[in-house]
Amino acid sequence: MLNRLEVHSTWNGLVQAWKPVWQASDDLERWAALMPYCDRLMGLAREGEVTELVAALQPLLAILDGLQSPGEPEKEAVDRLLPGIFGVVREVCGESYRRNAERASAEEQLPLVVLLTTHTEQAKELLLQMEHYGYRFRVFADYREGAQFAASEQAVAVVVELRPETAAATAISELNAQRLKWFALSERGDFAQRLAAVRDSAHGFFVAPLTVNALVDAVDPLAYKAKDEPYRVLILDDSATVLATIRKTLSQFPNIHIHTLREPALVLEAMLDISPDVLLLDFHMDGCNGLEVAKIIRQNKAFESIPIVYLTSETSEAVQLEAMRHGGDDFLTKPISEAQLANTVISKAERYRGLRKLMVEDSLTGLYNHVKTKALLQQSLLLADRQQVAVSYAIIDIDHFKKVNDTYGHTVGDKVIKTLARFLRQKTRRADVVGRYGGEEFVVVLFDSTPADALARVELIRQGFAEIYHAYDEGIFSATFSAGIAHYPAYATMMELMVAADDALYAAKRAGRNRVAIAEHSRV
Ligand code: GH3
Ligand code: MG
Ligand code: MG
Repeated sequence: MLNRLEVHSTWNGLVQAWKPVWQASDDLERWAALMPYCDRLMGLAREGEVTELVAALQPLLAILDGLQSPGEPEKEAVDRLLPGIFGVVREVCGESYRRNAERASAEEQLPLVVLLTTHTEQAKELLLQMEHYGYRFRVFADYREGAQFAASEQAVAVVVELRPETAAATAISELNAQRLKWFALSERGDFAQRLAAVRDSAHGFFVAPLTVNALVDAVDPLAYKAKDEPYRVLILDDSATVLATIRKTLSQFPNIHIHTLREPALVLEAMLDISPDVLLLDFHMDGCNGLEVAKIIRQNKAFESIPIVYLTSETSEAVQLEAMRHGGDDFLTKPISEAQLANTVISKAERYRGLRKLMVEDSLTGLYNHVKTKALLQQSLLLADRQQVAVSYAIIDIDHFKKVNDTYGHTVGDKVIKTLARFLRQKTRRADVVGRYGGEEFVVVLFDSTPADALARVELIRQGFAEIYHAYDEGIFSATFSAGIAHYPAYATMMELMVAADDALYAAKRAGRNRVAIAEHSRV
């Protein structure tokens, strides 16, 4: 989601910084002051996936990147670009843009899964269930017709029953020609059949009967790929030239977002704002050195484990060792080799991401864990306050879950939890936070959402979940949940919000379960 307020304020900052350049176009320092604004704008445009703005900013960044000894020609070139960029900023910050974008996403088609089978009767159950899991699902007994449909509709996956053999073989070669992902379905799962399927480029293999769980587990990664979030790099260096060089090198990697800073005193604020995956830190700066900055950062619990890479012209091993002892992770010696820079930044950021993922994720469901959910809720409230929008907070608890465990076993209970987790993720937006609070309790934070909107959405999720069947050894059963919703700013602090939603949840339980209740001061 595009942070419009920040786009606007960053643009205003850029315009302010442009005035001094206008007055003295040969002053490199003044030019350098423009860069953080341009970087931030580009970062926002990329995060919000606003291609118009990315495209409009590119020529400006190209000029800034190439600056050596600037003067009137550069000034005039930039001055010609600014009105166009302003036009785009105004457009993407406006109401009509927002409405268009929302309409487009609402019309987005659900991912399609196609099944080619002669046992269409047995597929009826799947047909009913797949929709609840966020898929369009079509079954064809005519393999040729099914393969053509899959190709024309760009199915995310096709399941092909391997009998009758000739029909299956024709369909498979058609699917391979169209580069569609296909899975084999067979009565038997012996090695010879699996080998044949692998040789035919099968993406996976199911042994009949095909269950919803198995199918969804297999196609989810294809349809709902987690988007790779770009790595965020913060560079603190008091030299504009060094900043420009590093930025130029790293900007060749679209998956790296760069933020630059020249003022050590602002580092904590910038870290909070950006939450970088790696910090590049100049070793010798005016007024303080990198070692001292690293110590200040490490004293902050939130940044205990962020990778810090020093930039230095210091080649003495003793100094380097001393710095590493004080919380540094690596060294880059100036002049910095481009390959080494990119390599170090990416590998450090990757490792840190992996580490952080373990720390914030719940292992059973992959949702945010308790601690992270609360931190994100707090962040959402701060942002909501700044943007003056409402936030709805829903707490969801599976009904009579003890009985599910007692009747069907703990493993089946775990599956129900996983199913609800996946369902919640599919039915919420990217800007929403979905967390597992513990046990069979979940939390959804709906950003920019009024009580009426939240009620309608959670209600839909409740109805959908109740229609999902869960399988156990001897058959199927369904489960329900109850939910309580409270809403910010009617409840102004995180604590009040959580207590109010909890009270609403218990009211829903008392009133008979399988329902959604809304906190008193949030009622529509
Ligand atoms: P209510 O409708 O009032 O919420 O009834 P309930 O039985 O769901 O409520 P209660 O909180 O008493 O029981 C929750 C049960 O959830 C107890 C515990 O055994 C089970 N549970 C908690 N975590 C897990 C888990 O990770 N996996 C499984 N299978 N069960 C869990
Ligand atoms: Mg409970
Ligand atoms: Mg419960």
